[in-house]
Amino acid sequence: MRTNTYQQQSKKTFKVRFTHLTLFWLSFLTGSLSFALPRLVVVVVVDQMRADYLHHPNISWNYGVKTIINEGLIFEKARYQHVPTDTASGHAVIMTGANPVTTGIIGNQWWDSKNKGMVSAVINEKGELGPFHLEVPGLGDRLISRSPKSKVIAVSQKDRSAILLGGKKPTKVIWFDAKQQKFVTYFSSPLPEWASHFNMSLPPEWESPFLTSSGKRGASYLRDKVLLDVMLMAMKAEALGKDEDPDLLAISFSETDAIGHRYGPFSLESDKHLREIDEILGQLLKEINSWMKGGEFVVILTSDHGVLPLPESPLGKQLGLRRIEPKEFHSQVETTLIESATDELKLNKAQQNIFVEKISLPYVYLNHVLIGDDSERHALFEKLRKQLKMLEFISEIYWRDQQGVTDVFSDMAQASFHKRSGDLILRLKEGVLVQSRELGGTNHGSFYFYDSKVPVIFYGPSIKKGINRDPFFMTDLARHMARLLGLP
Ligand SMILES: [Zn+2]
Repeated sequence: MRTNTYQQQSKKTFKVRFTHLTLFWLSFLTGSLSFALPRLVVVVVVDQMRADYLHHPNISWNYGVKTIINEGLIFEKARYQHVPTDTASGHAVIMTGANPVTTGIIGNQWWDSKNKGMVSAVINEKGELGPFHLEVPGLGDRLISRSPKSKVIAVSQKDRSAILLGGKKPTKVIWFDAKQQKFVTYFSSPLPEWASHFNMSLPPEWESPFLTSSGKRGASYLRDKVLLDVMLMAMKAEALGKDEDPDLLAISFSETDAIGHRYGPFSLESDKHLREIDEILGQLLKEINSWMKGGEFVVILTSDHGVLPLPESPLGKQLGLRRIEPKEFHSQVETTLIESATDELKLNKAQQNIFVEKISLPYVYLNHVLIGDDSERHALFEKLRKQLKMLEFISEIYWRDQQGVTDVFSDMAQASFHKRSGDLILRLKEGVLVQSRELGGTNHGSFYFYDSKVPVIFYGPSIKKGINRDPFFMTDLARHMARLLGLP
């Protein structure tokens, strides 16, 4: 009896406290005090959605995106503060509120100097998938730790997107495994029935090319549509948002990224898929509204990074974008590094061959035996910087605890120096793309607005519509969501 009384009391105090905090924060966010705690927070990531897609010159939004823009609260200045601006690092920032220097997720993959190989952001040394390299709790972990009955579910076509949205110990994380051609989860945990259902019923067009002949839905539409169905099934099967403990549901649509890489932003193919995403988000909102039946929920639309237009496209030409062959780029950077270091460190032939361990943009990993201790490195790096900056495609070079370089991008570089990061970060000139002509397509990852600026919009029954033009770093997003959920 004693324990029960204590539990009841403590639960009551806790509720009062978090309602108070929630009201406080929401009064700031919405300008309204009449607000109840949301029972469901839905994070919607559209992979590779540039911020300027919201004002897309060739698209009139008619469905979900239109509703979110017209009725939501837009944080117009939202941008990432790290490099590379890619999928894994972006998804980790969204849910942890921390930059790669803290999360340890410094990219989709990185160089491991000890084992002389690349490491994937969500795979351990045994080849198992999971959040092993994520060094801080996600929003979901904080929610479950505060209210253990809360549920946290993340789904995506990509493993890294789902896993990093889920955090360290989510209720369920589901992604699509291309090798097995089915939805899967962690090897140690059973696939819930609602996900197995989809493995039996994947549409036959699933594997067809991105686009079919005119008028027909391509595989990309189907992939994102099926993912939405998986999410909705999870929401209903797990009864998300139906009790007093708030739940967190996250979905990351991947096809915009696949199409954007291949055809570039503002292409016919990309525009077509954005219209499809608009419809898919329309259905998502309709389903959530009907499921929550007037109950409190919040949907947040955002993205993990943007993308550079194709240099060969009319827009790319107009903007003066340049493509550089990776081979040529690596050779010029490596030669410059070795020549400058040979002078400074008196390297012999054998040492020259091992001086540069790996160039994996934006990082350069150097041989630590040769570059000496921290005090010696600064002088060496200064010399390397001077020579590298003479290459016509490089703007600036950064390293840990660098002194004297305080341009607007140096904070972004410093936020990206985890122990897994390289010794140097290269900032290429704006509009330069290092990607082979043979591979074609385009990429993201740079410091610049086209890669770092993304949409952030809060939408829900009690969110007051508007545009917030204050500076907004993407690390602020998790902080806002935490306050919304009453987390300290
Ligand atoms: Zn991505």
